[in-house]
Amino acid sequence: MTSQLVSIVTPAHVPLDLDLPLHRITGIGPRQAQRLEKLGLTTVRDLLFHLPRRYEDTRQTVPLRALQPGIVQTSHVRIRNISSRRSPYKKMMLVEATLEDDGGVANAVWFNQPFLVRQLQPGMELMVSGKIESTRTGMTFRSPTFERAGRDQHHVGTLAPVYPETQGITSRFLRTRIEPLLGFATQLPDRLPPSVREAEGLMPIAEAIYQVHVPGDLATAARARERIAFEELFLLQVAAERARRRRLSGPGVIVAYDIDLARRFVATLPFKLTDGQRVAGHEILTDLAAPGPMNRLLQGDVGSGKTVVAALAALMTHHGGFQTAVMAPTEILARQHHATLEKLLAQHGLPPRLLVGSTSAAARREILAGLAGGHDSLIVGTHALIEDGVAMVNLGLVVVDEQHRFGVAQRQRLRQTSGAMPNYLAMTATPIPRSLSNTLYGDVDLSELREMPPGRHPVETRVVPPQERDAAYEFVRSEVRKGRQAFVICPLIEESDKLGARSATAEYDRLSTTVFPDLRVELLHGRMPAREKIERMDRFVRGDADVLVATSVVEVGVDIPNATIMVIEGAERFGLAQLHQFRGRVGRDQHQSFCLLFEGGIDEEGSQRLAAVAATDSGFELAERDLQLRGPGQIVGLRQHGLPEMLAADLLDVALGRRARQAALAWLDHDADLSAWQPLSESMNGYRAVFDID
Ligand code: ADP
Ligand code: MG
Repeated sequence: MTSQLVSIVTPAHVPLDLDLPLHRITGIGPRQAQRLEKLGLTTVRDLLFHLPRRYEDTRQTVPLRALQPGIVQTSHVRIRNISSRRSPYKKMMLVEATLEDDGGVANAVWFNQPFLVRQLQPGMELMVSGKIESTRTGMTFRSPTFERAGRDQHHVGTLAPVYPETQGITSRFLRTRIEPLLGFATQLPDRLPPSVREAEGLMPIAEAIYQVHVPGDLATAARARERIAFEELFLLQVAAERARRRRLSGPGVIVAYDIDLARRFVATLPFKLTDGQRVAGHEILTDLAAPGPMNRLLQGDVGSGKTVVAALAALMTHHGGFQTAVMAPTEILARQHHATLEKLLAQHGLPPRLLVGSTSAAARREILAGLAGGHDSLIVGTHALIEDGVAMVNLGLVVVDEQHRFGVAQRQRLRQTSGAMPNYLAMTATPIPRSLSNTLYGDVDLSELREMPPGRHPVETRVVPPQERDAAYEFVRSEVRKGRQAFVICPLIEESDKLGARSATAEYDRLSTTVFPDLRVELLHGRMPAREKIERMDRFVRGDADVLVATSVVEVGVDIPNATIMVIEGAERFGLAQLHQFRGRVGRDQHQSFCLLFEGGIDEEGSQRLAAVAATDSGFELAERDLQLRGPGQIVGLRQHGLPEMLAADLLDVALGRRARQAALAWLDHDADLSAWQPLSESMNGYRAVFDID
């Protein structure tokens, strides 16, 4: 197939540019433009980058006399005759044709497409492709795809791209609209510097775009796609590494590493640190003492002991003369952190302060004054801490719990209040699989707590099918009789019920009246005022309730050692990571704990996911499993991260990712400020929301 000249409407001398909206293109009406928008396609450039999922290869044709039944085959034929009739049963319209070529005859049949009789006429030459059935009248193509044979073939008898489609936008449509636009590809700036491209043996972008849509052969199509994927990974790595180098060379708060202080702190702990905690602590204290500000992510399962590590960092920061802010996603969690840090740090002269939504105005004024004046060194709160005009005179460390990345905008807000660039430590109990984190967190350093403190019994996890529900409730009752407590987590019933109040309330009614009329059942959901939530949670903490029915949106992050049962309703509706999070809420004591995954009507994928949760108690392993089951797109949601979407790159292609990273590092070594190749520096705009590039 040869390259074709661009054909578009240019009545008012519309410049032929890549940003041209699609409704201006011949053959794309306003309706179709709207539908294309559903695929995220609004400009010519978008269409060029709408990459095929795969290719349909019907290039090999078979003479009619050689057709084999049972498989898909393609033939170059002439129509001898064609007619339609109503099928005697099923009331279907059949269109039947007799096909011939120089050496044979065969049939074709189509169902419920009566218009074909008008479209196809005897004598016409077609390429037909479809599954062959051996019938009493000979070999028959069943519902074959077809196209007029000739020079300008796109669909049948070719290597045809199969695109992501949507209602009313088929691959056939896309092929005929994209191909005429391929001449535009020469206008695409090649963001891959020529020297990198040559060293990697990759084709120019225009050629790659051309070859990916109308490939000469499958191997070339694969090389074209790899070229586009390489570019995506290269840009990401340049952005990440640039942000990293910028950060490390920038002035940050330096906190001297006082080994004796670290030893004194560890000596006061009622337990021995795990190896992971020791290594992570050392990595963090080393970062704090280095001139560039820290940007580190501490990953570790619920209960792996991240807080102690953060406490050590806060103490060191305080000792160096700087303040620490600890941010939690919810008020309940902030309170818990505050209580934990108080236990760990008050004896070292570092009492934490707490600032949350329900803090009284007077207390708030006093706290703000303490922070601004530098008398207080450790503040714990929700994200309101950075939104609320909290000014800290010498902020040295920010710890954010349950967040993977501390965004550029958030960092800037904090920098404004303090002047110097503080150190950042993000903590999360939902680890990112390593294969992904290497690619997506190139600007962040990672620490991991892979082992749990000794003496923990793994939580026993069971999938409970509907018929075993009653037995499971009986089991809950028997544990409660032994003095234990249970959580019951309910999923959202429908999107409109964002806070999950409906399902939790209904479940609460059912449990308190029918299932457990003899037990004390408490309810907690997102629509309750903060004050009420805390009161109800407190009742459960004090042991004044046996069963706490809660929604998934309510953080049940409070440490309640006496709660040993986690029941999860509609478990298949939750992601693996979330289920694992819930499970982490029990098993915090010497008592054996249980997690009961109640499944509703279940599908194959859902049941695999639940089985995976039951099979391992490691969040790291589950993250890898989740990745296998759902693919990287579902898990990381690049858009959610604020990163440009990747069209060609497979984030799990570790080898290509590594190649791209090497190339990115090498490039930055000789062009640190990206002045040598303009299309590359311009492409950095897309990464600004995530990476601190300039
Ligand atoms: P995470 O924040 O990672 O979920 P925490 O820091 O809240 O975990 O720790 C969970 C519990 O484990 C706390 O009660 C804490 O005191 C305890 N803990 C932490 N480290 C150890 C350890 N090395 N040995 C025994 N218990 C520990
Ligand atoms: Mg925690």
